[in-house]
Amino acid sequence: MDQIKITNLEVFCHHGVYREENVLGQKFLVSVILYADLRKAAIKDDLTQSVNYGEVCHFIKEQMEKETFKLIETLTEHLARKILIQFPMIDKIQLEVKKPWAPILLPLETVSVVMERSWHCVYLSIGSNMGDKENNLNKAIELLDLDDLCKVTNISSYLVTDPVGGVEQADFLNAALELKTLRTPKELLELIQQIENTLKRVRTIHWGPRTIDLDILFYDQEVIKTKELTIPHPEIKNREFVLSPMCEIAPALVHPVYGKTVCRLYEELAYSANE
Ligand code: AMP
Repeated sequence: MDQIKITNLEVFCHHGVYREENVLGQKFLVSVILYADLRKAAIKDDLTQSVNYGEVCHFIKEQMEKETFKLIETLTEHLARKILIQFPMIDKIQLEVKKPWAPILLPLETVSVVMERSWHCVYLSIGSNMGDKENNLNKAIELLDLDDLCKVTNISSYLVTDPVGGVEQADFLNAALELKTLRTPKELLELIQQIENTLKRVRTIHWGPRTIDLDILFYDQEVIKTKELTIPHPEIKNREFVLSPMCEIAPALVHPVYGKTVCRLYEELAYSANE
């Protein structure tokens, strides 16, 4: 991917563990590599299609002067997130924050923290079969989008589906969502559980009625199996209410385990149901 590099931007500010550092301040040097598709801007010679590196530099300075952190680790993480959120054209960032005057009572050239952060493309399944189902889905989507580290980028149509699992209950309203996130899979799971709690998900019976249910279907092309998280979601290939809306918003997405597109999995499920 194309890059814009900023090297050793100098900012005087007050981060540090020691009180003296917070009071007196010191020099920090920031180097950034911004990864973005610069082709359009380059061909059209048009700054509006690129990332304005002057604006990025001033934004970094402003952010570094606005708040005081003890650790340069925290400062670097904070800057990476803020820059990715403020400049939507940037897909990925590599950031180095150097502290040349670090007070360790020994001579050193510099100490620095380096981080690489990027947006991740995620698909979620969302469903409700209690109360005002449409409103429940809308609220959950709104809460996801309100999170600083998530941006909902596509929503399928809402689909009325029969309940699965043999429990007598009302029809479901289901949808699939695409979102950009800076959260890790575990952090994303924490957010969806928080949203389920906020919307007072009721879960007395397994497979039973619920005000809202959110599942992570895909996280980039990652394959994850931990105690609390399986990605891609293991039920994808068996669920029409997942594959049908996924076909609408990402038909060509390849399942990283089966090596088949979402559309192909949907066709196979329909075929096996008709046999
Ligand atoms: P349910 O709401 O019935 O889908 O179950 C939620 C539980 O499944 C949570 O405790 C998660 O830890 C676990 N889980 C495993 N994989 C996933 C996934 N891909 N998305 C959401 N929850 C998951």
